[in-house]
Amino acid sequence: MQIQEIKFNLLSIPTTPARASATEIASGRNDKITTLVVKIRTKSGIEGIGFAYSLQGGGKAMLAIGQEDLAPLILNENALDNEKLASKVYWRTQTIGRTGLVQQVYSAIDVALWDIKGKAAKLPLHKLLGGFRESIPAYISHTGWLWMSVGQIIDLSKPFLDQGVMGLKVKVGANPQNDIERISNLREAMGENIWLAVDANERYDTGTALAMGNFYQDEIGVGWFEEPITCENIKGHSYLANNLDIPIASGEMLFSREEFHNYLEKGAMDIAQPDITRLGGITNTLKVIHYCESQNIPVSPHLLPELAVHLGCGLPQITSVEYMPWFEPLFNEYPKFKEGKLIPPEGPGLGLSLSEKAINEYIAS
Ligand SMILES: [Mg+2]
Repeated sequence: MQIQEIKFNLLSIPTTPARASATEIASGRNDKITTLVVKIRTKSGIEGIGFAYSLQGGGKAMLAIGQEDLAPLILNENALDNEKLASKVYWRTQTIGRTGLVQQVYSAIDVALWDIKGKAAKLPLHKLLGGFRESIPAYISHTGWLWMSVGQIIDLSKPFLDQGVMGLKVKVGANPQNDIERISNLREAMGENIWLAVDANERYDTGTALAMGNFYQDEIGVGWFEEPITCENIKGHSYLANNLDIPIASGEMLFSREEFHNYLEKGAMDIAQPDITRLGGITNTLKVIHYCESQNIPVSPHLLPELAVHLGCGLPQITSVEYMPWFEPLFNEYPKFKEGKLIPPEGPGLGLSLSEKAINEYIAS
């Protein structure tokens, strides 16, 4: 299964509705997402696709890293040797690649290798990974941005809630007083029975997070409190996890299994949220998930439902998937809801094919 060709495309994909988290609100709404797509073709004719994204620039650097640094390391190698290639790339890019853009670009490559593996085995990825369930609970998070009014959140969420999805997650974190008012109004308008999580994108300090956590716990009733404080502050996460009954969810900013280990050994997260395209792809994310399983920590992957649905259907430790359909325009197929749960597209590997029309339309370079 020799790798014969590796082709990258840098895209700028429009996202509707526009996003604005507590991290981004100062620069207004963002309605595009930088995405690097890779196609890997083997000598036997199988083509695998992968992708990675950046929220804060770096697109041209990602393209250059892919073309100039990583492609030469994997060209002519065996596409089925994902562990060998992950190790090779790790050691050959160690001084620039343990975190950040190199790791993100390699994630796209690793996803494509798993797509090839599934196609070679003639199995959908979720079956290859373990075949644990046919569908996975999913919550929506694209309807809860900070710029949205309570009325807009409800209007945009309703079609999904009516289908029976697990619930929704909304952004908080820019202004605690506003958060209290907004989330109180949202809870009142939605009623008590809708599952609701809050995500502060690291923007509270520890004292504020404790006070807000008590408010979310006692007055609102939330499914989890996500990224309450900066990801660097593991001790603060541990303090919050120990002093609040609501689960602390975190992990989207972590770039290695060791970083998850550092959190878990200090009891600093109750729910792990690995990002497949920051951790180095499926290969490394599997290691994080299996480690979480050994520590009885539920896993709900960050974003990327088109990839996470396979992990969710393949592995017992995944409890939910985040439905943020940013990349839907890129593909001819997409995971669908059935009785409120998400099911993977049919077909081997990822079950996805790239829309050439979308690639031509969104090409950035
Ligand atoms: Mg988040």
